[in-house]
Order: sequence, then structure tokens, then C-alpha cells
Amino acid sequence: MLRGGVAPVEPAAVFHPTSDRDIAQLIRAAYQQGFPAVSARGHGHSINGQANTAGGVVIEMSRLAEGHADGVRIAEEMRYVDAWGGELWIDVLRACLEHGLAPRSWTDYLYLSVGGTLSNAGISGQAFNHGPQISNVHELDVVTGSLN
Ligand SMILES: Cc1cc2nc3c(=O)[nH]c(=O)nc-3n(C[C@H](O)[C@H](O)[C@H](O)COP(=O)(O)OP(=O)(O)OC[C@H]3O[C@@H](n4cnc5c(N)ncnc54)[C@H](O)[C@@H]3O)c2cc1C
Repeated sequence: MLRGGVAPVEPAAVFHPTSDRDIAQLIRAAYQQGFPAVSARGHGHSINGQANTAGGVVIEMSRLAEGHADGVRIAEEMRYVDAWGGELWIDVLRACLEHGLAPRSWTDYLYLSVGGTLSNAGISGQAFNHGPQISNVHELDVVTGSLN
């Protein structure tokens, strides 16, 4: 959490969810019990500690992806990918290439997470033609404290 030393704050805990429901429960608990903050962490490459939180709980998004058998699902005919936010773009690309496909817009550096780059657009050489990654998203699931 202190890598780089640019934003040297420490969270109270790091949470390793096994499902989106775990995350919803954490967010609900944060409201009910008054944690200072909850922060998602993709690959931790944002340069000013955006994925960290002083005294709060960091949600390690990549862990779920590791235990997730099909974290990247390709709908070949419909030409879209359904991916968990903690997936790295390199793994999304690899999964696409098995079907002879590729994302329309990616990042030049591919060891960044889907959620991490969509949170700030996600740009590369293809953005000139296809827009940033966020402009190529059809649907997003937003996890809140609601368990419904
Ligand atoms: C070496 C290097 C190369 C880079 N190259 C590029 C590039 O080519 N193109 C480009 O656009 N950017 C590039 N960046 C910038 C990078 O895209 C951003 O810093 C990005 O936010 C980092 O992604 P991450 O997975 O490390 O996210 P993190 O740093 O972990 O998180 C970034 C933000 O997104 C939030 N977040 C993360 N995951 C989720 C989620 N699942 N749901 C909701 N919120 C979430 C975090 O809370 C945080 O606010 C580069 C950065 C580095 C260090």
C-alpha cells in the first residue's frame, strides 16, 4: 500500500472479496458502522494514492478475479466482453485473441485493471479512432450497499 511513497497513508484493513455480494455487505457495514472510507484497488497504478484510503478499508479487486474461473466471458457473435472490474487488460486481450478478436480501445500499458482505467477513461493509440475505453462500454454493474 505504501509502494512509491507518494501518498503514504495506511488503510485500517484490506478486504479480499469472493463475490460482489461481499462488497455490497462491506459497503453496507461501512454506512452502518461508520468506517472512514472504502476504496476499490485495481492494480494500484494510479499515481496519487487514489486506490488507497487513510484508516478505511481497501477492497482488493484482483483477488476475486484470480479465484473466478470465468472472469472474462466473450460473446463472440455479439462482439462484446463481459469482464470483472479487477481483471487486467492483458488478460482481457488474451481471452479475446483466442476468438480472433481484440478490444476496440485499450491502454498502451496493459497491466492495469478494467475498473481502474474505466474510472478515468482509459486512453491509448486507438482512442483517436474509437474513443477512450469508457466510450466503448455498453453496460456497467455498480455495486452498492443494497443486497437486493
Ligand atoms: C506504467 C503506467 C502506464 C500507464 N499507461 C496508461 C495508458 O496507456 N493509458 C491510460 O489510460 N492510463 C495509463 N496509466 C494510468 C492508469 O490508467 C491509471 O492510473 C489507472 O487508474 C490505473 O489502473 P489500476 O488498475 O492500477 O487502478 P488503481 O490505481 O488500483 O485504481 C484507480 C482508481 O480506480 C478505482 N477503481 C479501481 N478498480 C475499481 C473498480 N473495480 N470499481 C470501481 N472503482 C475502481 C480506484 O478506487 C481508484 O480511484 C498508466 C499508469 C502507469 C503507472
